[in-house]
Amino acid sequence: MTMTTYKNSKLVPYYILGDGSFQQLSPLLEKRRKEYQKDEGTVFIVDHYFSKTNLISSSLLHENDEVIFADTSEEPKTEYVDSIKNQILQKNRKPKTVVGIGGGSALDIAKAISVLLTNPGPAENYQGWDLPKNPAIYKIGIPTIAGTGAEFTRTAVMTGPVKKLGINSDQSVFDQVILDPTFLATVPTDQFIYTAMDCFVHNEESLLGRINDTMTIALAEKSTQMLLDVFLGKMDYGKLMVASGFGGLAVANSSVGICHPFSYGLSLVLGLRHGYSICIAFNQLEEYYPSVKVFKEILKKYKITLPKVVTNDLTDDQLSRMADAVLLNERPLSNAFGNNWKEKFSKEKVISLLRQM
Ligand code: NAD
Ligand code: ZN
Repeated sequence: MTMTTYKNSKLVPYYILGDGSFQQLSPLLEKRRKEYQKDEGTVFIVDHYFSKTNLISSSLLHENDEVIFADTSEEPKTEYVDSIKNQILQKNRKPKTVVGIGGGSALDIAKAISVLLTNPGPAENYQGWDLPKNPAIYKIGIPTIAGTGAEFTRTAVMTGPVKKLGINSDQSVFDQVILDPTFLATVPTDQFIYTAMDCFVHNEESLLGRINDTMTIALAEKSTQMLLDVFLGKMDYGKLMVASGFGGLAVANSSVGICHPFSYGLSLVLGLRHGYSICIAFNQLEEYYPSVKVFKEILKKYKITLPKVVTNDLTDDQLSRMADAVLLNERPLSNAFGNNWKEKFSKEKVISLLRQM
């Protein structure tokens, strides 16, 4: 008799959605502050873009609060996350709430910090599945770009000395999310499209893969439909933010597929940002994803030109390392090809695709 295994999926328990809903952060914090003891406060992890704005006004801050503008010119590294944690601990403050404001990078840093403040040791110790033992600090996530779905997932992605891998844990799930679509107005067009296409690809990978269920399929299908409404029809930031959330929920309960492993390889060797490397990889994977045609239409509409080939100058050694990084992704590749994926997807094939990327 075969045993069915059941997954117990944790979701974000509270969300607020709507234009201007960022203003709800203040009353939410006021409510939490009533429970704070002496020396306890709130830590804000805010994308550095907002250091030039007056988003974090003094009225939002109280004694013992700390604002850290996260440098996201590079995507999160474990070392950087550790340095932020040490900065918080050195001041001997006792955070009771972590607020993350930004794109996938700042949100993932905030998630990781909330876990690391209660779980000892460096961030790299927690890259993997269900490693934190202690409950994380209460956290609020406020996305300012749409696409990664990081606001709803149970992972905090970081690049460590050995691997790019998240803290995949129930402790990484936000306790409260605020979805204020007005944030999207200032995202530069190219970044806007790259991150949104990350969502498009998450949906394709979960729909075409083997690891999914009725809920995942429903979320991914609806997310894709909303993305197409927005990108081939009329722009609607609210719809886009919800599509991002649905895509995150879908992929969190299934798995990525062929495209993400390629993007990890490209990012690892060439240091490319996630959404950008996803677009470069997806653009050359039409043999696996028929929807590459639609993707190209969207790029054309938004006048985004991807470089012809970014792997041109790589040596055979570098290409081989990149291919190894792609092939390390057992779960995504078996999601895409089945358990016998090694018979269907050789290193030579990976290298030949990489040469086109
Ligand atoms: P990002 O967070 O790296 O930000 C990209 C750029 O946009 C930065 O320069 C930032 O300063 C700027 N920016 C952010 N908000 C802005 C705004 N409102 N106006 C103007 N500029 C703004 O981009 P991203 O694509 O959202 O996140 C990528 C990261 O997310 C990667 O590290 C990737 O691995 C991770 N990721 C995480 C998950 C997850 O489930 N946790 C899923 C997919 C990707
Ligand atoms: Zn992604």
